[in-house]
Amino acid sequence: MPFAPRSAEDRFALVTEVGARDGFQSEPKWIPTEVKAQVINALIDAGVSSFEATSFVSPRAVPQMADASELMALIRRKPGVRLTGLVPNARGAERAAAAKVDMMASFVSASETHCQTNLNKSQDAALADFQELAPIAHRYGIPLRGAVATAFGCPFEGEVSIDNVLKLVEAYLRGGARHITLGDTTGMATPPLVTRTVQVIQARFPEAIIALHFHNTRGIGLANVMNGLELGIREYESSIGGLGGCPFAPGATGNICTEDLVYLLHECGYDTGIDLEALAAVARQVQGVMERELPGQFMKAGSRLKLSSLESVRRAVG
Ligand code: ZN
Repeated sequence: MPFAPRSAEDRFALVTEVGARDGFQSEPKWIPTEVKAQVINALIDAGVSSFEATSFVSPRAVPQMADASELMALIRRKPGVRLTGLVPNARGAERAAAAKVDMMASFVSASETHCQTNLNKSQDAALADFQELAPIAHRYGIPLRGAVATAFGCPFEGEVSIDNVLKLVEAYLRGGARHITLGDTTGMATPPLVTRTVQVIQARFPEAIIALHFHNTRGIGLANVMNGLELGIREYESSIGGLGGCPFAPGATGNICTEDLVYLLHECGYDTGIDLEALAAVARQVQGVMERELPGQFMKAGSRLKLSSLESVRRAVG
């Protein structure tokens, strides 16, 4: 059966919740640290076991992430739950280590223009920062993830060359980052492109543990996940309720939605360790906190076998 686990051992799919970083980061209004912690703690209670919790960037660059260390201290740590911090440089890595992250994620954009506009530095400078921060992660015994932003296309340059993606993956692996995230930062991935890109990386670097990070900008985020499943990818990044994207920037939509992703994974026969109904309840709470409708659909419709009563249909018709 397509999309299904290949064996009993292959049943687990890891969902990494990135709403607190990728989602909240683009919110113009300050979200109190306690609220961010409440959301993460509620998600841990619902069974989510992996988070990109925050970013140790300069508070001047991203004010919403200025509370990274304070937030880490408010999260109820639980064995088996992995909290990742995004780190742009050596200084961020020291802060992340002091805040006791379980994993550090470094990021470089596969597009030079996106790198310059988003990270304010060239690809080479960003890679040099990674080479400086990697030994810090190793010294503290903290595993490293290398994220390739705009891996499937760039809004300024169009198609991104696979050679650029391979160059970054190789640099990450050399620097000791076995976990590689391919980020579809602006929602330009398509199923054939996902297949092509992932297959090239799998063939060249079979040791890489690949995670996929999709945005639902053009409505095909979960279709891309289906292709990832076929390719054997068992880690996906998503945000609760589909948080993300600036609410004032048309077209800048959020990550694929965690509860919709979990619904899909469960229906395809995967275990995530997550209680879907509890997850949907958290999504509705987050929607309340954001004071606007979020794109997530499962939290509105519920499970496919949540039957409607005939009474309610009759009332609707009448
Ligand atoms: Zn993203």
